[in-house]
Amino acid sequence: MESFIINRYLNAVLTRGCTGSPINTAPSDPRCYATPKSHMKKNISICYLCGKSISDDIGKDHVPPKQFYARELRRKYGPNLFTLLVHPSCNKAYQKDEDYFVHSVGPVAMESYSGKALWGDISDRCERPQNKRIVQMVLKEFDERPSGLILPFGKVAKRFDGPRVWRVVWKIVRGLFFKEIGQVLPDDLPIRCEMLSPGENPPPEYDIVRTAPPLGQYPAVFDYRYIGIPEKMYLWAMLFWDRIIMFVGFHVPGCTCKICT
Ligand SMILES: [Zn+2]
Ligand SMILES: [Zn+2]
Repeated sequence: MESFIINRYLNAVLTRGCTGSPINTAPSDPRCYATPKSHMKKNISICYLCGKSISDDIGKDHVPPKQFYARELRRKYGPNLFTLLVHPSCNKAYQKDEDYFVHSVGPVAMESYSGKALWGDISDRCERPQNKRIVQMVLKEFDERPSGLILPFGKVAKRFDGPRVWRVVWKIVRGLFFKEIGQVLPDDLPIRCEMLSPGENPPPEYDIVRTAPPLGQYPAVFDYRYIGIPEKMYLWAMLFWDRIIMFVGFHVPGCTCKICT
């Protein structure tokens, strides 16, 4: 379990969670399929999750997940959300972790406009009996005295299941990478991830990605930037619900840099 610290009103202030393999872990997976963007516009379809072609069993996946956009906002603004074609079965394998992500990480952003709207969705779902399990699980992640640590008055820790959170984040990055660069990245590529608590300043090593242009369709809900050396390495910065910043760094499969070879 990883955690960040937030106050009683879910306003985070301290610490950061960090997991994943260090960026200098050599990727050994040769899977990396070049798909020029021009191909994507035609009807040649590749599932960005498994790298195989899609013929008859066609599904659509929202990148980022549709449920990141609260129902209230979708109703009000009718956003035209970005989707990629996928095999429905490939997509379904992430459903439970995406639900978990929204219920576990989403509440931390509840002070922003989009986070508050999302909180409305989460509260509605909490009332339904079929969601009892996930609600109880997430409630247990709030802790006023994590590992006996005494926190400043009014603060409470919010733990989260790192592997599940990062699995969802990596899926989003893979989707965005396919959109921007046109290549499929494997699910098990070694990556380095870092999450900041709301209000926490990013460490200076991330300054470089903050100079890249923001590319989010609806930045109040989800925004992202990236920098990269083609065929070598990339660093992505993402902003969830205008509150939570996450970074993902990785070397692409087949990278020929000194570290990888
Ligand atoms: Zn697939
Ligand atoms: Zn490398």
